[in-house]
Amino acid sequence: MTIPLFDIKTPLAPLQATIIKRVTEVIESGRFIFGPEVEGFEHELAEYVGTRDAIGVGNGTEALMIAARALGVGPGDEVVVPSFTFYASAEAIAAIGARPVFCDIDKDTRNVTPDSVRPALSAKTKAIVAVDLCGVPAEVPAIRKEFGLPVIEDAAQALGASLDGQRAGALGDIGAISFFPSKNLGAFGDGGAITTDDPELAEKVRALRFHGSRNKESFEYIGYNSRLDAIQAAILRIELAHLDEWCSGRKAAYAAYLKAGLAEYVGVCTPPQGSDPAWYLCMNTHPQADAVIAKLKAAGVSARSYYRKPLHVQPAMAPYVNAGPQPPLPVTDELAATNLVVPISPVLTEAQATEVVAALAAN
Ligand SMILES: *Cc1c(COP(=O)(O)O)cnc(C)c1O
Repeated sequence: MTIPLFDIKTPLAPLQATIIKRVTEVIESGRFIFGPEVEGFEHELAEYVGTRDAIGVGNGTEALMIAARALGVGPGDEVVVPSFTFYASAEAIAAIGARPVFCDIDKDTRNVTPDSVRPALSAKTKAIVAVDLCGVPAEVPAIRKEFGLPVIEDAAQALGASLDGQRAGALGDIGAISFFPSKNLGAFGDGGAITTDDPELAEKVRALRFHGSRNKESFEYIGYNSRLDAIQAAILRIELAHLDEWCSGRKAAYAAYLKAGLAEYVGVCTPPQGSDPAWYLCMNTHPQADAVIAKLKAAGVSARSYYRKPLHVQPAMAPYVNAGPQPPLPVTDELAATNLVVPISPVLTEAQATEVVAALAAN
């Protein structure tokens, strides 16, 4: 028996009949772009996250691009971004003409903190991207307070997590969420959303996702065609009602790992005080990570490393790294070399967690 890294199918299986029925209704309605399903989902997502607005877009990458554009980021600006994250976190900044400046992360939380951001700031810094890596919320309120700069919360991996009772997606000035199928709330294809409490930002986001127009008559910005479609929205509405239950399953699986002794064999994450992570990934460290991954695979456990080549050494980022000072990133370099990710999902059982830890323990 192999334990897969992700299990997308099992949690969705009981919802399949309901989903097919709702998708059929959307097909029969003939409304595929915007319309009541998208509006309904946006309303329910805003309520879930706890922001005034949630705005559906095409995917998480475009959510980041549009969020940064709404904040006024553009050519000549710098945006601080962690290097240890999925490529899109920085690609989105470069794609709108600004310079991503890479910062390090905290050794314990593996997220950006005021101390890790500070060396990357300059007079040109227009915003900071804080990624809630692996579903662990970044200490965004502390970063906002410390620097007074707008923070884009990349909550692509963290929907369902919270920090001091505030949900991921509501921690920054503006939040970006991905509904890529493997994410905590996964569409049947691509999808994304932007969350914010600021009505002016929300207005601008709504225009930017539709060709820079508020009324289909006057086009104010060079925008995007970036929409969440009605079929995905209808599916996401059904799933959203189960997100808390799925996140509870992820937390139970993580607790089972700790109970089985995970921390005796690998370095584990220390989430920030007051946080309730949603455990999108169970990322650990080991000095011989590749050998451990090979051992796990031989025992029938899917495991892999993530971001082994962090963003500041990716070829496409070289011109941005070379465009000015770039602080050293020792924690990033170490985590990139030593991380190993083991399976987690809403339905990973205690027996499976015990089996994974037993495979780690074996010589
Ligand atoms: C998945 C992800 C994205 C991009 O989302 P897409 O929907 O795939 O475009 C951005 N940032 C992070 C941290 C992600 O994990």
